[in-house]
Amino acid sequence: MITLALSKGRIFDETLPLLAAAGIEVLEDPEKSRKLILPTNQPEVRVVLVRASDVPTYVEYGGADLGVTGKDTLIEHGGQGLYQPLDLQIAKCRMSVAVRADFDYASAMRQGSRLKVATKYTSIAREFFASKGVHVDLIKLYGSMELAPLTGLADAIVDLVSTGNTLKANHLIEVERIMDISSRLVVNQAALKLKQAQIRPIIDAFTQAIGKTTASTQ
Ligand code: AMP
Repeated sequence: MITLALSKGRIFDETLPLLAAAGIEVLEDPEKSRKLILPTNQPEVRVVLVRASDVPTYVEYGGADLGVTGKDTLIEHGGQGLYQPLDLQIAKCRMSVAVRADFDYASAMRQGSRLKVATKYTSIAREFFASKGVHVDLIKLYGSMELAPLTGLADAIVDLVSTGNTLKANHLIEVERIMDISSRLVVNQAALKLKQAQIRPIIDAFTQAIGKTTASTQ
């Protein structure tokens, strides 16, 4: 049995065409079912639905053989014990710093004053501001980061931005782009050796499918 860990939403939706390229069709819609283990048209392949931030943990400890997870989540997890063969070029967005429109970010950075930064992505934020030589007080949040500058909890947030609509709706502006983010395939290292015959064809089919998508958009 091969177990693939996915999170609901964008990653699940954008992984489906890649699975189709490998001849795998998920037989239930996670938006309509409460099941956490979804069968596929291949009796030896199943999908488990986990929280996005739990995908690396499931794959690291062998609860799943493979998984799809954002670069953001992988950096925060550390990536230990995971083979990362492919950037799937899906669920693309960016990691950015945002502040209230009336906050003078440039002078706060120049003056070297301590910046209060709220984020779910503390490793990425810590490394980014350290690389700029700016002292920050990090405030760990688990969601609704946009609220932090509006309530005075923080001066800035570090969060994922896709269209920018969420920032705009909350009167925040993007002041730094830290990195581009996309989702990766991750594989349990022991599973890769022990289940090579089943896992390799999936990696190969994904690789080909990404090549085609990239070529067709050029
Ligand atoms: P947007 O309004 O399109 O800029 O989307 C921003 C909101 O969606 C933020 O709350 C982000 O945390 C979330 N978001 C955007 N892109 C992604 C992604 N690829 N993966 C997870 N969350 C995302």
